[in-house]
Amino acid sequence: MATTSENQVNPGRLIVLTGPSGVGKGTLLKRLCQRHPELQVSVSLTTRAPRPGEISGQSYIFVTREEFAAAIAAGDLLEWAEYAGNYYGTPRQPVEAALRDGKWVILEIELQGARQIRQTFPQAKLIFVCPPDWETLEQRLRQRGQDSETAMQKRLARAKEELQAAPEFDACIVNDDLETAVQELERHLGLTDKQDISASRG
Ligand code: ADP
Ligand code: 5GP
Repeated sequence: MATTSENQVNPGRLIVLTGPSGVGKGTLLKRLCQRHPELQVSVSLTTRAPRPGEISGQSYIFVTREEFAAAIAAGDLLEWAEYAGNYYGTPRQPVEAALRDGKWVILEIELQGARQIRQTFPQAKLIFVCPPDWETLEQRLRQRGQDSETAMQKRLARAKEELQAAPEFDACIVNDDLETAVQELERHLGLTDKQDISASRG
């Protein structure tokens, strides 16, 4: 844990953002981080193939299934899950180091991973992002246009299950109008538009 100049402990904070694929989690996070650049977003390991424009180390660290299995065996993942035929996991070391430094760290992960974090970090803030309605979710997933029809069907099936879990979360945000949703997110995290984390620590 880091200490402030007044020698108070800065505990850092773990935030989890979950919601069905295509709901707009990535879009929301991008906007939030533009406004609060001090937030740290964890970069996950995945066995999924990169989409056009995705660079390893930025959107994800792209690994083989063997490399992913080795990371699990070594205890290098804070949580991990299988999702629509691929594996995804949060590297432990960078998250723990950032929390020790008093940073706020955001994990953008699916439901099984969020449940694991709930167990291991009961103090984490878990936020669920909902679509305004099912049709909009399907439309956004299709409009992103980066998944095959088979992958899309898997993601839609999974989305139905995930939506039912929304009440497990500390807060639910409906991503209808993007700006309104970002403001809601800021409100739940105690981040107002102009406020940064150091200010919120008091
Ligand atoms: P996720 O990260 O949850 O899978 P994305 O952030 O990739 O979702 O968003 C899926 C698609 O929906 C993208 O094409 C994005 O531009 C669009 N989108 C996200 N939020 C909104 C919104 N509030 N209004 C309209 N379109 C949105
Ligand atoms: P995508 O393939 O669309 O990038 O991600 C598919 C799903 O995996 C999304 O719901 C995303 O939030 C989730 N995801 C991304 N990284 C991780 C991770 O490290 N752990 C878990 N459990 N889910 C993740």
